Amino acid sequence: MSHSPDIFSAVFYSGPIMKIITDVKSGEIIDVNNELAHFYKLTREEMIGKTINELGISYTPERAGEIAALGRQHKGVRNVEMQLTLKGGDIKWVAVSFDVVEFNGCEYYFSVVNDITEKQAINEKLKISQERFRNLLESAPDAIVIVGAEGLIELVNVQTEKMFNYRREEMIGKPIELLITSRYAHAHRGHRDSFLASPKVRPMGVGHELFGKKSDNSEFPVEISLSPLETEEGLLVSAAIRDISEKKQLEKQIKEANVTLEKKVLQRTAELQTKNKELEQFAYVASHDLQEPLRTMSSFVDLLRKKNEGKPAEETDVFLEYIVQASDRMKTLIKDLLEYSRIGRTTKLRKVDCGHLLKEVTDDLRKGIEEVGAQINADHLPVINAYETELKLLFQNLISNAIKFRKKDVPLNIQIDATHDSQGWHFTVADNGIGIKEKFKDKIFVIFQRLHTREEYDGSGIGLAHCKKIVELHGGQIWVKSEPGAGSTFHFIIPEI
Ligand code: ADP
Repeated sequence: MSHSPDIFSAVFYSGPIMKIITDVKSGEIIDVNNELAHFYKLTREEMIGKTINELGISYTPERAGEIAALGRQHKGVRNVEMQLTLKGGDIKWVAVSFDVVEFNGCEYYFSVVNDITEKQAINEKLKISQERFRNLLESAPDAIVIVGAEGLIELVNVQTEKMFNYRREEMIGKPIELLITSRYAHAHRGHRDSFLASPKVRPMGVGHELFGKKSDNSEFPVEISLSPLETEEGLLVSAAIRDISEKKQLEKQIKEANVTLEKKVLQRTAELQTKNKELEQFAYVASHDLQEPLRTMSSFVDLLRKKNEGKPAEETDVFLEYIVQASDRMKTLIKDLLEYSRIGRTTKLRKVDCGHLLKEVTDDLRKGIEEVGAQINADHLPVINAYETELKLLFQNLISNAIKFRKKDVPLNIQIDATHDSQGWHFTVADNGIGIKEKFKDKIFVIFQRLHTREEYDGSGIGLAHCKKIVELHGGQIWVKSEPGAGSTFHFIIPEI
């Protein structure tokens, strides 16, 4: 069956495919269809007779030979991609497929041209984003391993090579277990599967430890953070692996340091407790034993007195009186010392209503309070867990001191308050007495330390030492704030015990 040449021409000139016939030797355009001419923004007539060099495609006799040979050898060349600059400066990408056709002893290219500009742009974008992804991957501080659903390593970054001491190609296509210690590999497989079942960004290794394995089989602790990557080829998992050897080492050192510290504190506390006990024991025994010779002294002084009665020996009487006074004072000191050493020996914690307690104290001190006309105010004192006898002694001492160290010409006011804060119950006992100089505010809490002579104010200097011991027995602290001439406020904290 034969067709008239017109049918072939009609097919050639028709769209939608761009077609062109070129002379192999000269590169001259023999014919084009309208589709191609429009693409070039020219008419057919403008194109025919030009060489393809004039269309911006470099075509030299040498290239002509090469291309034609290629065309003949392969029975046509397919999809050669090239960039064209059109009239007006527009840039397009085309894919050209051609055959070398012989006709009347001459050779021609019969080419079909496809506009692939859009596809090329998409490819370009894809290339850029792939490039970005790769840069991101390579600049990440962690080893990043991308694993396929089968658990095979698809991609790694340079950190992975460094961390595990493998070359990239030694890891790609291998199971992820290559990089995980075998004793954890099983658990890890379970993790990976369940992760793939419900993938979301999350850390791994919480609750159990994961180990990385280097190419020489040495292990190191790691932290792994997984995130899902949805791709055309399916769900991938990106694992960011961090070597936490240093962190672990630091944690271990801190733990060890803590244990040592705790041991030292315990040891020190035990030592202090023993020392304290020894001191208390010493004070107790000493004060107990001192009483005996003291009693002997005073009974012999009594005997001497009786013997000298009625005799004119005045000087001896005065000396004897001094001895009696001194031994009385010593008696008081010994009694105080004994009391001090007894604090906290046998007491039990109980609920103490501080309001009631204060009432008892003021009842006991009624005589002194009434004598000086002291005004004592206390509202809403709390019920606390405390050593009752000791707490009573504490209030007793502070109130007695406020009475003792009042200003003679000003009516005495004592204000007692309690507030609760983060440390426990914070009590204050404030007076408008003579006050205490700043430089003495620590000294006054030391046993037998006083700021006045006995002639000015009576006392042995043990009251505040008692107070300190009592507050510390409760685990609290005591201090004073004062303005000389205006008054003192004693603060103490009784923690919740
Ligand atoms: P004492 O009352 O037997 O001297 P304390 O240990 O109770 O011993 O007090 C030590 C010293 O602290 C007192 O000698 C006194 O100088 C000072 N002091 C205590 N309480 C007050 C107070 N409320 N106002 C002024 N000074 C005080």
